[in-house]
Amino acid sequence: MRIEMHGDIQTTPDYWDCECSNYYIHKASVDHCIECDSYRGDSADSRVDEVESGENFADEGSDPC
Ligand SMILES: [Zn+2]
Repeated sequence: MRIEMHGDIQTTPDYWDCECSNYYIHKASVDHCIECDSYRGDSADSRVDEVESGENFADEGSDPC
């Protein structure tokens, strides 16, 4: 996972947050959240601590893994 520093906050360009109140973390390979109609290009990168917590990952439904 790539990490970028923003003061005390670490974010990663590998994930982004949509506008959903839960399960808002999307992989960078996903461009759109159908739940809240957010697009990756308009959204902020996810915080590393939230990604590492493993909570709030959106169910992408088509994860090849
Ligand atoms: Zn969403």
